[in-house]
Amino acid sequence: MRIVFLGAPGSGKGTQAQRLTADFSMVQLSTGDLLREAVRAGTPLGLQAKKRMDAGELVSDDIVLALIREKLGSPELRGGFILDGFPRNVSQAQALEPVLAETGQRIDAVVLIDVDLDILMKRLTGRRTCSVTGKLLNIHFSPQAEIDACLQAGGELLQRADDNEQTIGNRLRVYREQTEPLVQHYQRAGQLRVVDGEGTADEVYARLVNALGLRAK
Ligand code: ADP
Repeated sequence: MRIVFLGAPGSGKGTQAQRLTADFSMVQLSTGDLLREAVRAGTPLGLQAKKRMDAGELVSDDIVLALIREKLGSPELRGGFILDGFPRNVSQAQALEPVLAETGQRIDAVVLIDVDLDILMKRLTGRRTCSVTGKLLNIHFSPQAEIDACLQAGGELLQRADDNEQTIGNRLRVYREQTEPLVQHYQRAGQLRVVDGEGTADEVYARLVNALGLRAK
């Protein structure tokens, strides 16, 4: 299956995409992860992207499209993919169509993971990654035992560079102004499925699998 995930920053797209790829033969394509990789590698593209990411603004369409185009041609996507964080505005959605057509592919479903604004804020300000296990944690929501497990393994709780309050405010504004119009765009195309993104990750996952018409594993 080929899926697009829509949802505000903090709506759980990355978490849910990781679960789907673990249970079904799909690959997660996260433009945020691809960009962070480019930043870490210190490529010219990465350096250019970093400034915009740290400010909570979108990276230019050209850069993101180049990353996506390169990935969409790859044979490892035969089992399907989840686009997580792309497209993020109407012009990216329009640019995606010919790229897919070139490789004889089409999107089967667009899923909006719907979460209230105040919950998004708590999720984003509390988000951490364990430096040892790579596990995503939240200082407001994760069970103490999971946080302790990371610390006892000698791990640190790392915060993403763009998870500070000012940048988060910007990312949510950018979402409202640039990404939310895609909800209507895909609704009109008859492709949109809405999943309630509140509750535990397990609850959301069960709704998601159901909305996609997949069989739970
Ligand atoms: P989140 O959705 O939680 O904000 P992501 O990891 O998806 O986080 O993205 C982090 C940052 O990477 C964004 O704020 C933006 O600067 C950049 N980015 C990711 N995807 C795109 C995209 N499709 N177009 C432009 N910029 C992007």
